[in-house]
Amino acid sequence: MGLTGLDIFKQLPKTNCGDCGVPTCLAFAMKLAQKQASLDQCPHVSEEAKAALEGASAPPIKLVTIGVGDRKLEIGNETVLFRHEETFYHPTGIGVLVDASLPEEELKKRVAAIGEARFERVGQELRLDIAALKGEGEQLVEAARLAAAESAVPLILMNEDPETMGQALAGCAEKRPLIYAATAENVEAMASLAKEHGCPLAVRGEDVSSLAEVSEKAQAAGATDLVLDSGARRPAEVLANETAIRRAALRKRFRPFGFPTITFPEAEDRLEEAIQASSYIMKYAGIAVIGGMEAWELLTLVTVRQNVYTDPQKPIQIEEGVYEIGTPDEKSPVLVTTNFSLTYFTVEGDVEASRVPAWVVVVDTEGTSVLTAWAAEKFTAEIIAEKVKAFEVGSKVKHRKIILPGYVAVLSGKLEEELSDEWQVLVGPRESSGIPSFLRTSWSQ
Ligand code: SF4
Repeated sequence: MGLTGLDIFKQLPKTNCGDCGVPTCLAFAMKLAQKQASLDQCPHVSEEAKAALEGASAPPIKLVTIGVGDRKLEIGNETVLFRHEETFYHPTGIGVLVDASLPEEELKKRVAAIGEARFERVGQELRLDIAALKGEGEQLVEAARLAAAESAVPLILMNEDPETMGQALAGCAEKRPLIYAATAENVEAMASLAKEHGCPLAVRGEDVSSLAEVSEKAQAAGATDLVLDSGARRPAEVLANETAIRRAALRKRFRPFGFPTITFPEAEDRLEEAIQASSYIMKYAGIAVIGGMEAWELLTLVTVRQNVYTDPQKPIQIEEGVYEIGTPDEKSPVLVTTNFSLTYFTVEGDVEASRVPAWVVVVDTEGTSVLTAWAAEKFTAEIIAEKVKAFEVGSKVKHRKIILPGYVAVLSGKLEEELSDEWQVLVGPRESSGIPSFLRTSWSQ
């Protein structure tokens, strides 16, 4: 939560000199609170007040960047405990472990696979974010050099010996890897490596209170961009700690916890790993590092993440218009749906599955699904008819039949009227999954 105008006013000189361009200190404080002015416009503010105001106006959870260029991963800078209060801004980075002792070719292949993995869902491209290299001594040093040279994917270097970490950083620090990890035993040395190379540093405790101590020591030693690991590995404990850390950062502005977190699901099989990682994505993990690379597991995680990190005020939507599925012609069916991405891409998939090429008229309903749009009067007979005419659907087909989603069958009579009885309205299936059999049977007949 930001400072109020009165909080800021208490720290100002209260001389009303006007040198800031505003007649009074109170007016200037109000402008600052609304982010319409910056503190350096007041030449008389004391160093003490400056430090207090700058500290208090810093984001409760710092934005931390790992990697460089287009593939850099940004985590943190979250402002709410619950997504519906506002939104979550920086999606959990999904990382995959890479054993630094792998033979060179295998290691290169695994890092490349992490960098290249991609899925498409509801019109968005979903990717993995980070490769976590774990190994001892020379093996980690060499793996870090190879991975940085071969791929743009950001890296985590996992080793707790400062000497090994220093050597590994020598070969890849310009790629800004995450150093993992500073602990109570090595925090000063690891923090000074982070400071020297300008890299983010993961700090790990045995529990939340020791984590706070390590975090404070790392900051005192000059590390500025931290990532927090509470040390827990049992799911219930991880979730409790993730929640406690987020609460302390947002509600208490507890500075040692004002950073994003990292989690390591540990499970005996991949299904359990996917379940743990999904839970951590939902409960605040800045990064979740898994061991598996199977497509089903990755798709599960990127899908969960996409759902959690979609702005609840702005549903994902597509442009309205007439879409071609397959290679439709003048005899192909015409279906109508809304522009909520999930609805459209489900319809698209089911039409493709039917193997009947079709035209799909997409109506802008501000990203809402069929029933929601109908209830909100954004998917009415008048609106659909207007779009059918505006998109000149009649010029694409010779027949005059249009298929309405079964859930809004009630609109069929009115829609025929609005289309001047030139079109016959067919009521399609209620669920999109019924489209393949509908097109293959009812439509074909
Ligand atoms: S310059 Fe500073 S002291 Fe003068 S009015 Fe503005 S805020 Fe107050």
